Amino acid sequence: MSELTGKVQTVLGLVDPDQLGRTMTHEHLTMSFEFTCFPPPQGDEAAAENPFQMQHMHWLRQNPYSCMENLKLKDETSAVREELLVYRKAGGGTIVENTTTGLDRDVKTLKQLAKDTGVHVIAGAGFYEGSTHTEATKRMSVEQLTDIIVSEILHGADGTDIRCGVIGEIASGWPITESENKVLKATAHAQAQLGCPVIIHPGRNRAAPAEIVRILQEAGGDISKTVMSHLDRTIFDEGELLEFAKLGSYLEYDLFGTEMLNYTFNTEVDMPSDSQRVKILAFLVKEGYEDNIVIAHDIHTKHRLTKYGGHGYSHILKNIVPKMLTRGISQHQVDKILIDNPKRWLTFK
Ligand SMILES: [Zn+2]
Repeated sequence: MSELTGKVQTVLGLVDPDQLGRTMTHEHLTMSFEFTCFPPPQGDEAAAENPFQMQHMHWLRQNPYSCMENLKLKDETSAVREELLVYRKAGGGTIVENTTTGLDRDVKTLKQLAKDTGVHVIAGAGFYEGSTHTEATKRMSVEQLTDIIVSEILHGADGTDIRCGVIGEIASGWPITESENKVLKATAHAQAQLGCPVIIHPGRNRAAPAEIVRILQEAGGDISKTVMSHLDRTIFDEGELLEFAKLGSYLEYDLFGTEMLNYTFNTEVDMPSDSQRVKILAFLVKEGYEDNIVIAHDIHTKHRLTKYGGHGYSHILKNIVPKMLTRGISQHQVDKILIDNPKRWLTFK
C-alpha cells in the first residue's frame, strides 16, 4: 500500500477514480514529431511548403508526415486549450497525454492546460522509440532506466515536481532494438514496484504486440494493467486479433479520425476507416472483450486539430459513439469502453 493505491495520478495531483468520466486513453496535447519528416511526393513541394490553406488540406491529410510545419503540435497550445474546452462541453472528462521522452514532453504545459480547462490530464513516464534514445540513454542499465521511470511517477518529470500517472507510451520499432528491450524491461520493473498503468506503442508488425507482452511478462510486468496501442494499424486478421486478445491486455483502437490511403510509415498497411474501426470494436464486443477495449484519436500533428479543419479531440464523443450505438454496441458497453475500462486501468494497485 502506498498513497497512490486506489488513486489516479493527474498532473494536478491524485484524484479519486470516479472523477475521471469519459477518457481518451491515447492523446498528445503538446509534442514534436519533426524527426519523422518524409520528403513529399515529387511535384508536391509547393503544398508541403504552404500546407495550411484550404486547397492543400486534402493533400495534408494524405501526406501529414511530409510537412515539417505539421509536425510541431507544441506550437498550438492555445488552439489545444480551446479544443479541450469543447471536449469538456461534449462530455469528456480525462485525457491520457502519453508523450514520453523523445517526443519533447512538456509537463508544465500539460499542468497549465489542465488548470485552464478543468479536463483531467495524465502525463506519461519513460521513453519513446529507440531512434529517439540519446547515447546516454542507450548506455544505461535496466536498473538506471527503472529508477528514472519510478522517479517520474513518484517525484516529477523533466526537473519539475509534476508527476506522471502512467508509464508510456513506451515505443519500440520492429525488430525491437537492444535499447528498446532494456526500456521494456525497466517498464515492467517499475510497474511491479508501483502497481501503475502501462501503455505500449508496438512496432508496425503483426508479431510485435505479442512479443512485447512476452518481454514485459518475463520481466514481472502486469499485462492486465497494460494497454496495447495502435491495433488499428498492426493486427488485421480476426483470428490473430483474438489470439492476441487472450493474452489479457487492454486492446486499444486509437487512430480514430485517421483515414489515409498511403500510410507513410508502412505502405503495406491498409489504414482502416472509422467505419471499419467501429466494426472491429463490435466484433471484439461480440467475442466477449467489452471489458478490455479502450479508444482514442492519438492526435500528434497540427492538421487533425479543428483549427485546421481536422476532427479534433471530440470526434469520438460526437461522431463515433452514435455510430457505435447503431452497430450493435449498447450504451452500457460504450460506457465501459469510455469510462469503466480506462478508470480500472488508470487506478494504482
Ligand atoms: Zn501516440
